[in-house]
Amino acid sequence: MADRYLHLPGTAPGRFLTRRLGLPRPTPLRRWSADSPELDGPVIRLTAGDAAPAGNTGYAGVVVDATAVTDPVAPGPTGLGAVHATLQPLVRSLAPCGRIVVLGARIDPGDPHQAAAQQALEGLTRSLAKEIGRGATVQLLRLAPGAAADSTLGFLLSPRSAYVSGQVIEVGTAPDLPVGLPGPRTALVTGAARGIGEQVAATLARDGAHVVCLDVPQAADALAAVATRLGGTALALDITAPDAAERIAAAVPGGLDALVHNAGITRDRRLANMPADRWAPVLDVNLGSVLRTTGHLLKCGAVNDHGRIVATSSISGIAGNAGQTNYAASKAGIIGFVRALAADSGVRDRGITVNAVAPGFIETQMTAAVPLFVREAGRRLNSLGQGGLPADVAETVAWLAAAGSGGVTGQVVRVCGQSLLGA
Ligand code: NAD
Repeated sequence: MADRYLHLPGTAPGRFLTRRLGLPRPTPLRRWSADSPELDGPVIRLTAGDAAPAGNTGYAGVVVDATAVTDPVAPGPTGLGAVHATLQPLVRSLAPCGRIVVLGARIDPGDPHQAAAQQALEGLTRSLAKEIGRGATVQLLRLAPGAAADSTLGFLLSPRSAYVSGQVIEVGTAPDLPVGLPGPRTALVTGAARGIGEQVAATLARDGAHVVCLDVPQAADALAAVATRLGGTALALDITAPDAAERIAAAVPGGLDALVHNAGITRDRRLANMPADRWAPVLDVNLGSVLRTTGHLLKCGAVNDHGRIVATSSISGIAGNAGQTNYAASKAGIIGFVRALAADSGVRDRGITVNAVAPGFIETQMTAAVPLFVREAGRRLNSLGQGGLPADVAETVAWLAAAGSGGVTGQVVRVCGQSLLGA
């Protein structure tokens, strides 16, 4: 359902009205398009303590390296004040829909001063993301020494990350990729017949993958249309079927470079009124099937070395949501699953990464069915003042699925415009 309000503050009467009434004034976000794949303007990279050249404005991106900051109050470049000194004069020089990325270091639990200073960066960036406005975003990357951050920086400094803000993402080192290994060659997306899954499939196909599109047999016609349009393969299959993993493995004889668990359902009701037949299917589709199929596909070698596994959580799984104990349990379970599997030495040693995306309010059939006032609240209660689009989730999945993203694993990346829920 179109967000008509989004463009209102851009009109003269709308501007007048929203100012007078103190209503939210969201900026239409600048998203990726084939004609305009990069941000409009220069990106400046500075080390904390450096000053930007005088007189420049209209930066599309600002990157501040604060990895050497080891003390909250020390003077000079190792003090937190150096980040303030560099960033403060630049905030007003950022173009609409611009990007700020602060590079931090991993927190050293053995060094209270370093830990305090680096944790302080989280408070700084999350707060700046809330106040910056005009469609701009702010993130903190925590880099391990020698971290492979190019793919992540490329994503965050591009229009592809339009609805990702206020995130703290850890980036580690990545094993060397075999020479010539392209992006995901073969990808599987569950729940690909419509909504977010359809857009994920389209985005991975754009990035060069042959996409196996999976959805329930009842959606076979829509699924076939999606797969044909993308030059992929349709696999009409209920992901909860006992033989689902075997059938997926049989459909990808060359193995999978990206496995995207997107299929999900809701059966909302407060716990006091929730019978087992509303609880169990949600847990089975959203979580049980993810555990079963991933486990089998890893065991039988159907996930290739340097493969990428991306599962779909939700803000509900982070913040909880009245009426959604089943859904939130399943989506929180996804977070536990990706963190544990990412840490598994067998998975790590093969260069396989495991991450989750946690969408907030995304404009889909699912959210169009939400009552008007709840829908309006969902759209506006985030730092960007609007709902996201399926493309925003898809771009985030595509970044995590990229061959160059080997340094990112065990992360849960919210695609929620920095929703107030669970922040
Ligand atoms: P959607 O209902 O539009 O699409 C889900 C797809 O999954 C459908 O095509 C459906 O047929 C398929 N599916 C359901 N059960 C299946 C099964 N057993 N086997 C195979 N396929 C099955 O939903 P959406 O809004 O596109 O959401 C996609 C994912 O994102 C879900 O996991 C959802 O929980 C999550 N999510 C969505 C939002 C949002 O705002 N839309 C927010 C947070 C998380």
